[in-house]
Amino acid sequence: MKQHFDLIIIGGGASGLSAAVTAVSMGIRNIAVLERLSRTGKKILATGNGRCNLSHKNISASDYQGSYDVTEILAQFGDAENFFESLGVFCRTDEQGRIYPYSMSANAVLDALRLQCSEITEFCNERVITLFPHAGTWHIRTESGQEYLAESVIFSAGGTVQPKFGTDGSAWELLKKLNIPLQKGRAILCPLRSEQQILKSLKGLRVKGSVRLYEKNKLLKSETGEIQFTEQALSGICIFNLSSFITQDKACQISVNLFPELEISEIISRLYSCQAVRYEASCEDMLSGLMQKSLARVLLKQSGIHPGMPCSQLSDLQIRQFAGLCHDFRFPVSGTVREQAQASAGGVSGTALDKHLQVKTHPGLYITGEAVDVHAPCGGYQLHWAWASGCAAGKSIAERLLS
Ligand SMILES: Cc1cc2nc3c(=O)[nH]c(=O)nc-3n(C[C@H](O)[C@H](O)[C@H](O)COP(=O)(O)OP(=O)(O)OC[C@H]3O[C@@H](n4cnc5c(N)ncnc54)[C@H](O)[C@@H]3O)c2cc1C
Repeated sequence: MKQHFDLIIIGGGASGLSAAVTAVSMGIRNIAVLERLSRTGKKILATGNGRCNLSHKNISASDYQGSYDVTEILAQFGDAENFFESLGVFCRTDEQGRIYPYSMSANAVLDALRLQCSEITEFCNERVITLFPHAGTWHIRTESGQEYLAESVIFSAGGTVQPKFGTDGSAWELLKKLNIPLQKGRAILCPLRSEQQILKSLKGLRVKGSVRLYEKNKLLKSETGEIQFTEQALSGICIFNLSSFITQDKACQISVNLFPELEISEIISRLYSCQAVRYEASCEDMLSGLMQKSLARVLLKQSGIHPGMPCSQLSDLQIRQFAGLCHDFRFPVSGTVREQAQASAGGVSGTALDKHLQVKTHPGLYITGEAVDVHAPCGGYQLHWAWASGCAAGKSIAERLLS
């Protein structure tokens, strides 16, 4: 038998649950959430290393990229702190402006959303495989063979990465079949792979510095922070933020500056002063006041200098070249580490949606969260968009149903 609901939400993740909470708070009761996994909100629990970095202190529309203009939705939503306080969750902000639940536990966020959703019907292990409108009603079929009908549908099935959290991009096929224009999904907020052999020797090292992403000679983005080296990739939040700017992996290079606060001439003068103080020492020991030994060893070898060579033998040219390497240490990018991506870019094109996130060609169908062509850097911006877009869609549908 087909079950009929006022509103069906496809995907019980961050944006789907906030849509449900909003619609319930406005008096809509006949709501169902269809979730592919064994329970809703599994990804929320993994966010922020289990602490859920749910928003950022200074969010503005200019933090977001993609083809949908987020200005109105963000303005309507306001502060994530107020939203969560209205659900009984207090928040705290760290020195970098990242906002977390006060308990620093993602469970607090999921519990709050689920408690408010107690009046709605949740169907888990229900993967939606068909979605189409017929005679003013939406028809939905799931993999288990169940059929559902709804007046309105919110598509909150997420992006194209992290299959273990139910999001592998297969749900986007439902939208493609409705001829809704989509920008191709690509992994973002992830480490960047490099074939640079030297990475094997840098494995495990963490350094503070700045990173610049170049496509051929064009600077695409620069960031500052901790850079982590693994055997085949560069990682760390600053690298994650570069990953969003990559369109053609192969043509890109990362330039690491190990002394971002110094001009190259200042690095040279520091090297001379180290040489003067440790005149009798090896090159490796001469550098230990400037950088970690393992890093010094790698950079020296890369410059063609034996780490054990007495530093008194360093020529002016070698010192200048070494300083140049510290300032611009290059890594060709061979791709993104998709398995570790926190999000995907791409999704339903902005031109296909109205200001409430309703699909213009399909009244009653709304798109939220990562399924919209909107993305942002690390630091709570992705989840902020998920809550804001979910609330906007939930509110618009509730107003329609109540009018
Ligand atoms: C490890 C990790 C850490 C992160 N940390 C942060 C962080 O600290 N701060 C931040 O801002 N962002 C973070 N993010 C990103 C953030 O979690 C996502 O951007 C956000 O959850 C997207 O919300 P959404 O509602 O669009 O989709 P999701 O939360 O991904 O939810 C989509 C849901 O739809 C379900 N689904 C998919 N297909 C179907 C189908 N066919 N039928 C039924 N159900 C379906 C999925 O199972 C899933 O439950 C992190 C992501 C990851 C992976």
